Amino acid sequence: QDSAAGLKPRISVIGTGYLGATHAAAMAELGFDVIGVDTDPAKVDALSAGRVPFHEPGLPELILEHVGSGRLRFTADLADAVATSDVHFICVGTPQRRGSHAANLSYVESATKAVAEAMSHDGLIVGKSTVPVGTAARLRGIITESKPTGIDAPLVWNPEFLREAHAVEDTLRPDRLVFGGTDAKSEAVLREIYAAPIATGTPVISCDLATAELVKVSANAFLATKISFINAISELCEVAGADVSVLADALGHDDRIGRKFLNAGLGFGGGCLPKDIRALMYRANELGATRVVGLMQEVDEINMLQRQRVIDQAIDACGGSVLNRKIAVLGAAFKPDTDDVRDSPALNVAAALHLRGARVLVVDPEASNTAARSFPTLSFADSLDEAVTDADVVLLLTEWPVFVNADPVHLAELATNPIVLDSRNALDSEVWSSAGWEVRPLGGKVVQ
Ligand code: NAD
Repeated sequence: QDSAAGLKPRISVIGTGYLGATHAAAMAELGFDVIGVDTDPAKVDALSAGRVPFHEPGLPELILEHVGSGRLRFTADLADAVATSDVHFICVGTPQRRGSHAANLSYVESATKAVAEAMSHDGLIVGKSTVPVGTAARLRGIITESKPTGIDAPLVWNPEFLREAHAVEDTLRPDRLVFGGTDAKSEAVLREIYAAPIATGTPVISCDLATAELVKVSANAFLATKISFINAISELCEVAGADVSVLADALGHDDRIGRKFLNAGLGFGGGCLPKDIRALMYRANELGATRVVGLMQEVDEINMLQRQRVIDQAIDACGGSVLNRKIAVLGAAFKPDTDDVRDSPALNVAAALHLRGARVLVVDPEASNTAARSFPTLSFADSLDEAVTDADVVLLLTEWPVFVNADPVHLAELATNPIVLDSRNALDSEVWSSAGWEVRPLGGKVVQ
């Protein structure tokens, strides 16, 4: 049952984390029969019951609808999923390898091998995970060795650019589609699957495997560079008495530059940018492209230094030591509208202050549970009021709207010292200072 027979291809999605669960739901929304596979039985059970085990706006509704209609199923049985589908999307994780900057490719390799071994009819394998350049060519070798003889199992690469917190929208209406390593037949299958976004004008870039792998990594490297660029400039603004937020607005009006990703502050984190630029450094070094290595190293260093700058600001705000001081940390997620705390700058700062003897109380509208699992020694408040009560200093580390739009008059009554470190340059400093707060931005002007 494939497109050659005039029927819609049936889809399997291997790995149902942030990327895979969203992709599976989006494919069902586009009208395909989809089966999602994961090795984590708790994830499979939750998704099968129509529950999303993480916070992603719009996704629970989509999963519930399509699990309900029967178009979307989840299983831990990879062989069954592969046997009953025609196109297999590889969406497993590629985290940073322990003790190294390299990507851990063991999940991608074993998932691809397992798919190839389980194939009982011809099918297309589509890589979506973010991988170092050269990985897909190697996986083709693994597939050739593992698939049953006589089975046609080409591998193409279709990297994913979705942003957490906008994942559904980004998957259904991507800025562009990249198809790597396709021939006429596999190109036609991908164009059939993505017919809806293509019909509304989404550009398709068809290229070789290496280019497709590198487009994704380069996009993240560029975004990381943009953030570290404005953070480096913010350091200069601070010593020169300039205002980095006004500067960023002025730069952003130039459409060659654009305003997005020019917010000076605590820097980037999450499950993608940090590990992707490190994997790029590692791979570029292997291939002898040393300029990329140096550039990414600087980007990473500037980013990590921002965390230290906030820690130093907090110590300074507490008069030279945070020992036994109460510090309210607003935010645990690596950015607003997600519960993802992988490499969260907010938690990194909170943990560092905790280790220096501060009484840190973290508050987050969605990420307290995931954060408590990763940092069991930290304490979490149930409400913003609870976190701010008796605080010697307040740190805004993730710019959730509930924090940015909170009533500064009310909060000033709760805090012991109304000092706020606006580490995301997100607060209306005039409004907060007229409510009695001393607002200390990161790289901007202090407003008292
Ligand atoms: P994740 O850790 O949330 O999900 C990975 C899932 O794969 C897990 O549920 C895990 O149990 C499962 N898995 C591992 N091995 C498996 C196997 N052999 N068979 C079946 N399931 C298996 O990771 P994620 O954030 O979804 O990222 C996945 C990939 O997508 C990574 O390469 C990442 O860089 C890339 N990516 C992520 C995003 C994002 O915003 N999260 C965006 C674009 C690309």
